[in-house]
This record gives sequence, C-alpha cells and structure tokens, in this order.
Amino acid sequence: MSDTTTITLGERTFVLDKEKAEAALASKKVINGRETMFFNILPLKYQWAYDLYKTMKSNHWEPEDIQMQKDVEQWRGSEISDVERWIIKMGIGYFSAAEGIVGDNILHVVREVVTAPELKLVLGRHAHEENIHADSLVYMISSLGLNPHECEAMFEDVPTIKAKNNFVVSNSRELRRDIDLTVSENKQALAKNIFMFGQVMEGTQFYGLFGMILSLYRQNKFPGIGQMFRYTLRDESNHIEVFRNLLNALVTENPDIWTDEFQEDLRQTMAEGVRLEKEFIRDCLPVAAVGLSADEFETYIDYIADRRLVNCRLEPLTGNTENPFPWLSEAIDLKKEQNFFEGKVTEYQKASSLEDTGYDDDDL
Ligand code: FE
Ligand code: MN
Repeated sequence: MSDTTTITLGERTFVLDKEKAEAALASKKVINGRETMFFNILPLKYQWAYDLYKTMKSNHWEPEDIQMQKDVEQWRGSEISDVERWIIKMGIGYFSAAEGIVGDNILHVVREVVTAPELKLVLGRHAHEENIHADSLVYMISSLGLNPHECEAMFEDVPTIKAKNNFVVSNSRELRRDIDLTVSENKQALAKNIFMFGQVMEGTQFYGLFGMILSLYRQNKFPGIGQMFRYTLRDESNHIEVFRNLLNALVTENPDIWTDEFQEDLRQTMAEGVRLEKEFIRDCLPVAAVGLSADEFETYIDYIADRRLVNCRLEPLTGNTENPFPWLSEAIDLKKEQNFFEGKVTEYQKASSLEDTGYDDDDL
C-alpha cells in the first residue's frame, strides 16, 4: 500500500499519493529529468535556485531612477580627459553587445535544456536582468547624447571587442540544435557553455571595465553611470553564483563528464578568456589615466580568474596573485548604503531585503 493522504470535502474525495510526489521529486534533474507540460515547481529540489531568484528579485532596479545630470555636465565639460571618455565609450560599446549575448544564451541554450522548473525560474529572472542591463546602456547613450551608430560600430570595428564576443558566441552557436544530452561529449559541451558564460565571460571578462568605471566613480567622475555599474555588478555576482551552482549540480548528477581532460579544457578556456581580456584592457587604456594602470588591471584579471576557477574546484592559473584593488570591494558594497534607495527604488525593496542586499563578498 502506498502512503496516501485523503481529503474529503462534501461529496468529493481527493487522494494525494505521497509516493507519486516523491517520485516526481526524484525525477527532477538539471538535464534529462521529467518533462511535463506543467511548471511543477513544487516540491523544490534545487532550493538554491529558488533562494537566488528571491534575492535577485529583491535587488530590482530601473535605470531611469538614477540621476544623470552630473554625468551629462561632465561629459560636455572640460574636466574629463580623453582617456576617461574613451573608457566610458568602450564600456557602453562592449556591454551593449555583451549583455544581449548573455541573455540570448540563457534563453536559447541553457533554459531550453534544463528540465527542473525552479532552474527555469531563476534563469528567467537572470535573462530579465540582462534586459535591464541592456536598457541601462540605452539610457546612458541617450542621456549623454551619444550617437547609437557609433556604439554599434564599436563592437563591429574594435578587434578586441569582436574577439571577446566571437569567443563566447562560437560556443553558444554549436548548442543551438537538438543535441542528445545522454551522450557524455554533449553534456560536456553544455557544461563548458555554462562555465564559459558564468565564470569566464560574466565572471572575468566583465571585470576589466567594471574596475575602470568604478575607479572613475571613486574619483567622482560619472556618478550616474558608476551607480548603474555598481547595480549591474551586484546582479552579475548573483549570475556567477547561479551558473556556478548549475555547473556543480550538473557535474554531481553526471559524474562521467568531470574527467581530468575536461577539467583541463575548462582551465584552458579560462586562460584564453584571460588572454583576450588583457588585450581588451590594453585597448581601453592605450595611455595611462589618473589612478588607472593597465598593468594593475591585468593583475586584477589574473586574481579574479583564479577565484572563479577555485570556486569551481579547478586548479588556479597563477595561484598566487593578490588583489591590486582592495578598494574595489568597498566601492561595490551596497550594504553600507541603505539610504541610497530613495524614491522609486525603495518601492521595489521589501523591508527585509534592505538588511541583506544579496551582495556576496566572495564574488569580487
Ligand atoms: Fe548583465
Ligand atoms: Mn549577467
């Protein structure tokens, strides 16, 4: 006899079978799990995915809530150097393509193949946050009065931006077909995609510009843009965690993929991502600017890349790099700024979520 709960209401009797519910839970998998036409979110198997969804939602922000007057004044004035202006243009040029690439990969690759609804839930929020980031760039462009065609031209014509984008898109393209995810090789291709997008792209290749723009913000240059990048970075730290947990769950359920050879492949993928990021940094900082040294940014990328690898239980590339920018963790720490949430932003925030912004110090 199976364990059942019987509920009788008036003339109707409902029999709830505990075994069936347990079987449904057991058949929840990252890939190749139970596929139904229903969004069976309960019972939750991946609690972390649901928790991250809630954290991400409580961090909600809208670009228009951020004041851009000071940025516009500075952009038009004479106190900003040419290199500083170039960094802002590179930031807008790179991210306006990159945010879309990430969102597109989530919707057309990862969310398509995962089978557990709570994973689809958090991935839907993740994709939405990429839309917010893309929207924030449109807002920056229109506030500063930049020519949008010039931004488009940047990711067509700046070779180091093109190289970074092609690097991730080539992997994503291969997975856009019906692939048999019972085959180890194909599972590895998916795991590599999750590693590449979460740890190499969002986790490492975003951080050169994040550091430069926040370094300007620290000098009171472009405070509106800086604030949007702080919010974006807080979101990215959650995205890195979503993809790290996803990779971890995929490997736990499919230990056949985690071979020594595959681990080395991931390390080499990170090494290539780091190489491309360092070339890109040289383009962002062709000449030195106040408080900005390309050498230090390269060191920072080595430091970040090692942390991403170690957090995925992979061997670091350098192993002994120290963070050259300890101030950066403070610049990004939104916990200290409970009063920042003024106006409309406060309305998105539940009182409880103000106590914990979801910012994870581990992700710097
Ligand atoms: Fe983003
Ligand atoms: Mn992201």
